[in-house]
Amino acid sequence: MTLTRCVQCDSDALCDATHEEARAVGPRRFTAQLPALRCPRCGEVYLPGPAVGAFDDAVTRALVEAGASDGDALRWLRRAAGLRAADLAALLDVRPETVSRWETEASPAPRAAVYALGTLALASVYGQTAPLERLRALASPTAAPEGAVALDVRAA
Ligand SMILES: [Zn+2]
Repeated sequence: MTLTRCVQCDSDALCDATHEEARAVGPRRFTAQLPALRCPRCGEVYLPGPAVGAFDDAVTRALVEAGASDGDALRWLRRAAGLRAADLAALLDVRPETVSRWETEASPAPRAAVYALGTLALASVYGQTAPLERLRALASPTAAPEGAVALDVRAA
């Protein structure tokens, strides 16, 4: 949808502009100049959803690449992965209260859990499902094949 009129004042003279958007995650503050539409009459600023999504994805990548593991970073990454705390707990075979304790920094998250969460968040950014499917398979071992298993190794 392309906005053509200001929702606030009904002006039809929206102008291309840039807007500094910011996200605070724990001790970090991320900023980016995003393309926007600005109403010259009332000053209202409209940010396109894809640009906001790209900014949030960039924050996710920056957190993972920095190895951030504080509670706020873990909460951001979990949400970036599209997971509720209970979902993540089930995937990692811990209690939901454990995830809560990591995110409130009542106890440190094990590196393996931070790794898994970062991998899930990055996979979500890049539209990949393999890491989530792998954890789901681990959580449901009855789905694993047993006995003689014929594999198709032709190039896909
Ligand atoms: Zn306006």
